[in-house]
Amino acid sequence: MTTAVYPGTFDPVTNGHLDIATRAARLFDKVIIAVYDTPDKNLLFTIRERMQLARQSVVDLLNVEVQSYTGLTVDFAQRVRAETLVRGLRIGADFEGEFEMALMNKNLAPDCELVCLMASLKYQFLSSSLLKEVARLGGNIGDLVPKPVADALREKLIISRKTASGRLQNS
Ligand code: ADP
Repeated sequence: MTTAVYPGTFDPVTNGHLDIATRAARLFDKVIIAVYDTPDKNLLFTIRERMQLARQSVVDLLNVEVQSYTGLTVDFAQRVRAETLVRGLRIGADFEGEFEMALMNKNLAPDCELVCLMASLKYQFLSSSLLKEVARLGGNIGDLVPKPVADALREKLIISRKTASGRLQNS
């Protein structure tokens, strides 16, 4: 059985991520979307929220599951007996960083292979950070993310607006 790990921050998962997961699911018996549990305070969604949104987005992909991890990606891959890492590559944005990471991972875990899937044309310019920025400014992001993510983004931004205006009133 072939198992691949598709690691990332997924803050939140987008249709670009989903496209990569769907295509990887055709190549491997099992794909684990590995949500990185990072202490980075700048993330919009908690680890539980990022996992839940990813899970809701892949319910139709029967050989795809979602797990969280901390520490090195290659260690997680070893723990779940995955022999391959999957990443998505967008024009310009990703190549150098992915190359650097791949060489380091190869050094850490020589048996772990990397498969990069080219991002589909319509998702080339889609990133979680740009998505959050557009959502914050009130832009329509409905066709860029699965429905649960669009709903969660809307709710999260309402909460953060209320918190910000509460802070202003108290100052
Ligand atoms: P990371 O912080 O590890 O880059 P991301 O959640 O931003 O986490 O991305 C996870 C993976 O998905 C990376 O390989 C990234 O290149 C890929 N990815 C992100 N956005 C897209 C997209 N629009 N199309 C295809 N792949 C993407």
